[in-house]
Amino acid sequence: MKRSFSSLCVASTESHLTTPPHQLPIYATSSFVFDNVQDSIEVFTGRQSGHVYGRYGNPTIDAVAARIAELESYDLEDTAWGIMTSSGMSAISSLIMGLCESGDKILTQGNLYGGTTELFGKVLGKLGIETIYETLTDITHIADLLDQHPDTKVIYVETPSNPTMACIDLAAVASLAKARGVITVVDNTFCTPYLQRPLTHGIDYVIHSTTKYLNGHGNSIAGIIIGIHDTYHHSIWQAVKLAGTNTNAWDAWLTANGLRTLTLRMDKHSGNALALAQYLDQLPSVNHVNYNGLKNHPYHAVASKQMHQYGGMLSFEVDGGQAAAIAVMDHLKLATQAPTLGDVDTLVLHPATSSHLNVDKQLCLDNGITDGLIRVSVGIEAAEDIIADFDQAVGQLA
Ligand code: PLP
Repeated sequence: MKRSFSSLCVASTESHLTTPPHQLPIYATSSFVFDNVQDSIEVFTGRQSGHVYGRYGNPTIDAVAARIAELESYDLEDTAWGIMTSSGMSAISSLIMGLCESGDKILTQGNLYGGTTELFGKVLGKLGIETIYETLTDITHIADLLDQHPDTKVIYVETPSNPTMACIDLAAVASLAKARGVITVVDNTFCTPYLQRPLTHGIDYVIHSTTKYLNGHGNSIAGIIIGIHDTYHHSIWQAVKLAGTNTNAWDAWLTANGLRTLTLRMDKHSGNALALAQYLDQLPSVNHVNYNGLKNHPYHAVASKQMHQYGGMLSFEVDGGQAAAIAVMDHLKLATQAPTLGDVDTLVLHPATSSHLNVDKQLCLDNGITDGLIRVSVGIEAAEDIIADFDQAVGQLA
């Protein structure tokens, strides 16, 4: 039956796909269609795989999630699964919602990304999930803490941490946690799977803010949860589906696009960061540099054990506190002041007045997040240009 002109306008267009596209298509659709109700029932009940509704999954998003999960489980026999989320924060909150219930405790460090500390205290705390902040560098101490807090469900780790670059021994934590039946989670945002693969060391779950290095170009906000076991897979997926923390096809596609140059970027980020760290380390107006690639850095040994390179992130404390830090930042010309990291260009941030502004001051100070600290996401520009910029900006302090 020939349709009327107006019905033809309204009808969804049919796919004209003949040969497969070279690049991942962006599936901009909120739902998927079925020929009959029985087919729909098969997919809705999970008896058959398939897409039904964009919040539950989408071919573009699923393809990108699968690729990142494959990279994180590169050394393992089994391939990990991945669920992309609307941001790094929603990856963390959805994962914890999938794993924990009221009465459970999270054991973590006091020097996490500020947003994560706030999420644990201000949001998860209200749901009856308590967080314990401790230094997690000594494995005997962690064992004692687990004895003191038998309700600990999750050990949550950021290594290197944001912004002080503190490192935690992943293999040691994973093996202790496994023996105690505690789940381990690592925020691997700073490293990406190219530089560090926590699952290889026995960690259970990895999260990323893909907003950062995995995208690499500062044009999407998204996150991912990656797991190797099936135990909580369904409850985590359910948390994403029902809390609606899924990402969208466009942001997933931008992530996939950035991912293709990941190794080239990370090599250059790492080389430039080491050069800048070595330069800053010998300046009299710099109290100390936090970069694990420096041989004198307290976490050099543990970082060397589990990271392939030391990455593009560093922080340094200038003599003179907040006023001096702000003066340096305001003098930088090549580096941009922006509250993100992992983009191709060099970015700086003053944690005390931005990412950690709303975190308990004493917790910050106890963990080295001082008023004179500047965080640098070292870009892939020519190293000599980056060093020259910091040379003139730090130099004016003298
Ligand atoms: N994890 C780390 C280490 C971060 O630095 C950030 C943000 O800066 C997040 C998680 C949160 O990521 P998003 O901003 O994508 O929610």
